[in-house]
Amino acid sequence: MPERKILTGISADAFVSEADRWALDKLKKVPLLPMVIRKFYEVGFDRWFYCMNMSMSVRCGPDQYSTLYRIMQESCRVLDMPEPELYLSSNPFPNAFAGGVERPYITLRSGIVNNLTDEQLYHLMGHELGHIKANHVLYFSVGGVLFALLDLLGRRTLGASDLASYALILAYYEWSRQAEFSADRAGLLVAQELGISLDTQVALTAGATRFDHEMKREPFMDQARAYQDADVLDQVAKAVLFMIYGKTFTHPMPVHRAQDLERWHLSGAYDRILAGDYSREAKAA
Ligand SMILES: [Zn+2]
Repeated sequence: MPERKILTGISADAFVSEADRWALDKLKKVPLLPMVIRKFYEVGFDRWFYCMNMSMSVRCGPDQYSTLYRIMQESCRVLDMPEPELYLSSNPFPNAFAGGVERPYITLRSGIVNNLTDEQLYHLMGHELGHIKANHVLYFSVGGVLFALLDLLGRRTLGASDLASYALILAYYEWSRQAEFSADRAGLLVAQELGISLDTQVALTAGATRFDHEMKREPFMDQARAYQDADVLDQVAKAVLFMIYGKTFTHPMPVHRAQDLERWHLSGAYDRILAGDYSREAKAA
């Protein structure tokens, strides 16, 4: 792998998708949201999550899982952002997440680390850093305990009787899906090779098996292209599925995600960014 390009001064606007921005604006306009966020801070969920995560995982550093730490350091350099804390925790289900509004951190589960090559881990790291850089963490953290927060506020979350809660759940669900597309773009900006990013998606979709050597990217992409616009679920069905499956349903759209990332690459946006043409953070005075 040739040396990675450092995207000095890059702002999240360079990779946040239009749909993400639009859905987040819509979410921010839901009248119930400020109250829910206030409750989130009042209860101290952010601190609580941070402590819980720290108590259940191993913090990586120069002398602890140094390869993972190095991958994160380099990924931060590429996206020109401060380093969050990095943790590794035992869990066979391949997943990773970014948390911590006040003190950002990334936690990798053992299952995902075992499932990916070093190069693919750069994509994964870029994806999680993308969530942090785009300020997704607050909304994801609130969304993760949305039902509990609504309960604490005395709102009814089941049944259509509380329309305000329903509107919030729907807006959150819609945004949380869009946020993944933006983060995937950040993943590609760090991996710096479309094939690596797409292989990461295939590997995570199929899972690690003894047939890994038979895994192919192209048939998966054919499948992804065939999926085009087959987003048949209507809004109500999506909200119901979200209520039933919660967060687990927001992530498993890997086929759609691979297709979206390929399209973004084909649009030329990625090449322009790598060539230095991207929106930059406003410099502090
Ligand atoms: Zn994500």
